[in-house]
Amino acid sequence: MTTRILHRLLKLIKTNKKFLIVSHISPESDAIGSSIALALGLKKMGKSVYVLNRDPVPDILKFLPSAKIVTRKIPSGKFDVMFIVDCPNMERTGLKNLRAKITVTIDHHLLLSQVIPKQSLNLIDPKASATGELVYKLLHSLHVTIDKAIATNLYTAILTDTGGFRYSNTTPESLKIASRLVAAGADPWEITKEVYENFSFNRLRLVSLCLPTIEKKGKITSITVTRDMFKKTKTSIEDTESIVDFPRQIKGSEVALLFREDRKNLYKISLRSKGKVNVAKIAKTFGGGGHANAAGCKLTGSLTEVKGKIFKAVKSAIKN
Ligand code: 5GP
Ligand code: MN
Repeated sequence: MTTRILHRLLKLIKTNKKFLIVSHISPESDAIGSSIALALGLKKMGKSVYVLNRDPVPDILKFLPSAKIVTRKIPSGKFDVMFIVDCPNMERTGLKNLRAKITVTIDHHLLLSQVIPKQSLNLIDPKASATGELVYKLLHSLHVTIDKAIATNLYTAILTDTGGFRYSNTTPESLKIASRLVAAGADPWEITKEVYENFSFNRLRLVSLCLPTIEKKGKITSITVTRDMFKKTKTSIEDTESIVDFPRQIKGSEVALLFREDRKNLYKISLRSKGKVNVAKIAKTFGGGGHANAAGCKLTGSLTEVKGKIFKAVKSAIKN
């Protein structure tokens, strides 16, 4: 995070009153936790804040303090500042026609070739483990006291984006911030129980149905979830979180894939790399994006066609 941008941002926040915070579609912990923490921090400064998402807060994240401030109702008025958090552009928010004098992007995704709009201010740091890390730094610079509610939201964001402090984005910085958040009241075991030890019985039934689809072709592993499986187990796409970890766990897997059937002939693909292949680049060629080691995209076609295209692209990326 450059000091110059941070200074401009601090001034912008101090001199404005009405804030809007938006994040990406199908939000997960970093999107929701960062949105709420930023909102709570701004409220502490006496600001008026509106937190908006196109999609609902997933059930598993409803334990987050102040989760209820995230609304799906499109506001009518004009805002001074709109924050786009945990995603690089408006397109990923699935929202339109929002009015603000200036847009601020706070994100840690790889931008690749994307053009950033000129009228906006961008706090983008792909080295940050989570957007929550950037929000922490921002609130800290604003001298906002990090209370238990803010700490819980930010700790959850960093915990999940680092896969429980296991992935390669786990750095001295992310651990230092996590330590400060725990000192400020975030309870690691309480949060772990909510996030990792709280799956529905039906989700495990879904896992049992999709495990037999696991495949390994050279260094590529994959798993598939179909609409039929959702129907049989009364589950939804929310229940597929972390299912891609199963093929990734396989010895010799360099890239792991999850093919998720969202509609007839529409598949969401989650790509995970063990470190040698930049999967954000692959996802980008299919109109998606993400991080070097975790990315996603959507493709139309039959499962065979979609798998064929993705396997081919991954195979060639591994070769190079
Ligand atoms: P997941 O596979 O868990 O949905 O997403 C992995 C990472 O890739 C996340 O950081 C997510 O925001 C990003 N991602 C997933 N799908 C898309 C997509 O369609 N477009 C972009 N730009 N990023 C995506
Ligand atoms: Mn994130």
